[in-house]
Amino acid sequence: MATILVVEDEVDIGNLIRAHLEADGHTVHQAFDGPGALALVEAHSPQLIILDWMLPGLDGLAVCRRIREAHLVPIIMLTARAEEIDRVLGLEAGADDYVVKPFRPAELRSRIRAVLRRSGTGGRVESVLSAGPITLDPGPREVRRDGETIALTFSEFELLQSLMSDPKRVHSRHDLLRAIWGDSAYRDPRAIDVHVRHLREKLEAVPEDPQLIVTVRGAGYRIGET
Ligand code: CA
Repeated sequence: MATILVVEDEVDIGNLIRAHLEADGHTVHQAFDGPGALALVEAHSPQLIILDWMLPGLDGLAVCRRIREAHLVPIIMLTARAEEIDRVLGLEAGADDYVVKPFRPAELRSRIRAVLRRSGTGGRVESVLSAGPITLDPGPREVRRDGETIALTFSEFELLQSLMSDPKRVHSRHDLLRAIWGDSAYRDPRAIDVHVRHLREKLEAVPEDPQLIVTVRGAGYRIGET
């Protein structure tokens, strides 16, 4: 069971999410605006954050950026279908995924389970993977480049692990979405492109000329011949 922070100014929705999560046995902290959310992140170090995009004052996007300055905690953003927004902006700001309102509680819970199952400690013992200067240790969820630790978000880690565990294969965006989030619902393939770009910025010597994560035009991504 996990400690989860729910950030939503609409009290009914926040309470509904809280009730579902508590029914699953999680400890839930609730914030109703950005400053409240930032304070609770520092106070409780949640293992997962559900963050509404539309908040009074500091919006969810800004809150997400602020959290990412110091924390790698998985963040799932809530967005309204009616909003004329580019949801990729949320991923750019460091969110791992988003759920579109109105959502079925079962959908949100399945995504939460996917995150917690993978990010939890004490899971399977898996071997250390390597590609060129990069090593990935699934146990402590640690990635190093030439021995130096590189801090990755939940999605970045999952994506890199999927690619490195089958390095000869070309992984389609669909395959990678499924590897990160499971098979439960439609996902936006652009999410993969955003996470890959972030990975390149963190791992590649020259991000504009990637050697580690190579684009295979029209097909997806694979690990380069490093
Ligand atoms: Ca809201």
